[in-house]
Amino acid sequence: MSYYYGEQTWPQLAAAIEKNTLVIIPIGTTEEHGRHLPVETDAIIATMFGDAIAEGLQKENVPVLVTRPIYYGYSMNIVTRWPGCLKIRTRVFMDYIYDMIDNLIGQGFKKVALLDCHGNHDGLLRTVMREIADKHDQFICTLSPAKLSQPLYDKLKKDPQGDIHGGEWETSMVLAYRPELVHPEEYTSGDAIRCNSELRGPVSTWGLQDTKTGLYGDPTYADAALGAACLKAGTDAAVRILQQFMTL
Ligand SMILES: [Zn+2]
Repeated sequence: MSYYYGEQTWPQLAAAIEKNTLVIIPIGTTEEHGRHLPVETDAIIATMFGDAIAEGLQKENVPVLVTRPIYYGYSMNIVTRWPGCLKIRTRVFMDYIYDMIDNLIGQGFKKVALLDCHGNHDGLLRTVMREIADKHDQFICTLSPAKLSQPLYDKLKKDPQGDIHGGEWETSMVLAYRPELVHPEEYTSGDAIRCNSELRGPVSTWGLQDTKTGLYGDPTYADAALGAACLKAGTDAAVRILQQFMTL
C-alpha cells in the first residue's frame, strides 16, 4: 500500500488515524549548491530519506505515512549571491510548518516526525516543535538524517574536513539517488573547508570562510557508494528512533 499521505482517500486517512499512524514530513529547501548540484539538493535528500525511512518502518509493521517534501524554506542571504534560492522568511516558514502539524493533530493524528534536511532550519523546526507542545500538550519528533549518518560518514569520508554545503557528503547523496543531476565536470576543490573547526557550530559556518562558487566543502571526494552507505546508516538510525517514539 502507498505510504504517501496525498495518495490516500479520506476513508483511508480515517483508518490511518484509527491505527495511530505516524506522519513524516520531509523538509528540504531550494538554494544554490555550487556549480555541480541542482538547487533542489536538500529537497532531493529529504525525499530519499523520507521514502527509505517509511519503507524501513513498514518492514517493522509501524503504520506510517509520508507527506510530499517541503521544497522551499529559509536560507541566509549569502546563498542568494547566486541564482536558485526562493527564500521564505523565518516566521512565514515556521507558521507554515506549524499549521500543517496543527491540522494533522486536529484531524486526530498523534504522531508526527519532521525530517530536517537543511542546516538553516534546525532552530526554527525545534521552536515549532515546542510551540506545538505548548498548544496541544503533544510532542512531535524532529530528526536530522545528516546528523544520524554522521558517525558512519566520519569513518568513511576521504575529505579530512568533511562537508558543510555541496561537498563530499551532499554530492555523494545525490550521486546515490539521482546521478543524472550531478555535473562532475564542474567539481572544484577551491572552496574546501579551511576554517577553524572548533568555531564551526559556535559561529555560523558561513561567517568563518568566504566562498567563491557557493560551496563549503570539496565535492571531488564524492562517490555514490558513500552516499548509499550514509542513506542506509541514517535510515536505520531514524527507524530505530521512530520505533521508540511510537511507544511514548
Ligand atoms: Zn544542502
